[in-house]
Amino acid sequence: MGFIRLFWLRSRLLLLVLVLPLILSAPHSAAEPQSLWDDADLQNLEPEIIDVIKFRRKPILNSYWETIPSIRICIDSGVSSARASQAMSFWQKLGYPLENLFFDDGSVLCNVGGVRGEITVMLVNSDVPIGNSHLAITRTWHNNINNTLTRAQIYVFGGLANKPRLLEHELGHALGWGHYNRYLHVMNSEYRLTGMDTNGLTWGEYISDTERLKGL
Ligand SMILES: [Zn+2]
Repeated sequence: MGFIRLFWLRSRLLLLVLVLPLILSAPHSAAEPQSLWDDADLQNLEPEIIDVIKFRRKPILNSYWETIPSIRICIDSGVSSARASQAMSFWQKLGYPLENLFFDDGSVLCNVGGVRGEITVMLVNSDVPIGNSHLAITRTWHNNINNTLTRAQIYVFGGLANKPRLLEHELGHALGWGHYNRYLHVMNSEYRLTGMDTNGLTWGEYISDTERLKGL
């Protein structure tokens, strides 16, 4: 019985691996629901599969940057230079070679949502399906064949931009990481349960997950 159960769980896990790439078609939006598991990528999964996801060992990389992006902070986002630097250095300490962070005081590129090759941080606008239970939302575009990211947008609500861990979490999505609902993990889908746990998120793990996405 135990073996059968284990086997069943394993086959479900495999199914998840097969299903996820289909669900995560570009552009993919990841947001911060107040309650667990109402994220868009989980809506179509059966409860049994969701249970398996809950207990997965590591965060999952959905897509990746082949060339490290620069980060444009549009001034209307309200993100302070101190918060932006802290959030970038959070990922730098994990080994990510991020280095190009700059403020944009309202150029036309902020109005059009940024450009390819960058992570653009902006104030949420009426075109963004953020709902009223979200603090921020990250939208990424990736090539469906090789899963490489081409651009990312982080939208934040006015007045919430400088909340602790918010930008760190959204940068995680912008780098390609999905949610990981371990208590106090930075990629927890529920803001109040996030913390500074970075298990599974090092640059080395990013690179090895990249190999998986490349099919190596
Ligand atoms: Zn999130």
